Amino acid sequence: MNTRDLSSHEPYVPGRGLEEVARELGVAAADLTKLSSNENPYGPSPRAVEAMEAAVGGVHRYPKASHTDLTASLADEWGLDPAQVWVSPGADGALDYLARATLAPGDGVLVPDPGFAYYAMSARYHNARVETYPVTKPDDFAQSADRVLDAYDGERLVYLTSPHNPSGSEIALDEVRTLAERVDPETLLVVDEAYGEYSAAESARTLVDEYDNVAVTRTFSKAYGLAGLRVGYGLVPESWADAYARVNTPFAANDLACRAANAALDDDDHLRRSIDGARRSRERLRDGLDVRTWPSGGNFVLAEVGDAAAVAEAAKREGVIVRDCGSFGLPGCIRVTAGTAEETAEGVAVLNRVTD
Ligand SMILES: *Cc1c(COP(=O)(O)O)cnc(C)c1O
Repeated sequence: MNTRDLSSHEPYVPGRGLEEVARELGVAAADLTKLSSNENPYGPSPRAVEAMEAAVGGVHRYPKASHTDLTASLADEWGLDPAQVWVSPGADGALDYLARATLAPGDGVLVPDPGFAYYAMSARYHNARVETYPVTKPDDFAQSADRVLDAYDGERLVYLTSPHNPSGSEIALDEVRTLAERVDPETLLVVDEAYGEYSAAESARTLVDEYDNVAVTRTFSKAYGLAGLRVGYGLVPESWADAYARVNTPFAANDLACRAANAALDDDDHLRRSIDGARRSRERLRDGLDVRTWPSGGNFVLAEVGDAAAVAEAAKREGVIVRDCGSFGLPGCIRVTAGTAEETAEGVAVLNRVTD
């Protein structure tokens, strides 16, 4: 047999795991500094770890109560009805649920270029066409309603990323509001706030009350430090929130993930430390790196280094792993995650040496 025609489906190329790189270099994983996947360098919330340890013996049961509890906590946190909180396996899962709820075969989606690869992947899984709008280096990756509208042609889904990965740029809430008013009423704006906790800007959650075509996605993978568990969520308008029951994969957000996320939500100390640390470190990256960088609202900084593949390779040989942005369609740049103070200092020293 054959698969269907997957030739237009680009495979996802993740940043490589720490153990893999350690094996390749013949060093201990502990000797490497991983600044390539925007993970939380402070680890998971201790409360989340405790909650998982207490629940491990119960994983023979389906995650019904833990899913309901997490949904209720998030609804409370955001001041929304529980039905408007679409808990999912990672924010990637929420992107899929929104696609399932909106896309018919042949519909278009509009995604930023460069941008997060999964938007286009998810669209293709749902037999949609992928169009792009530019977020450009000459423009310092500025995002605005006009830039999106110039490319917009009635697509069913429009993705906005704020803060934007990999550049760190943000889109002002008023610009999102303008978009919500100017696009077709049947176009859903998805505001991906995977890095929202690190930003000083207000969440687009307020627009979820004002418009029935704005949804927000968030994740526990970054500021909450739970990337390995795969848990995120969407916040959707009340008028069609009940679609969740028809589109979600049953029990896809697992029991330990739901319990850990619920506990992490209550751990203000861990969250504060993660956010403050990332903000300090991203400024150290901007001040310390000798190459050109851009302001970032996230826990990472984009840097222009010339031959990015060579720089990433040379840094790796010196024990620092960064992300070559070639796979984002941004050759010449690397993305450096804000690590702990020590990791960031090491990253700056190594990168300055290898770009010298
Ligand atoms: C990390 C990230 C996500 C979410 O990842 P999950 O681990 O699936 O929650 C979503 N969008 C962007 C832009 C990201 O960088």
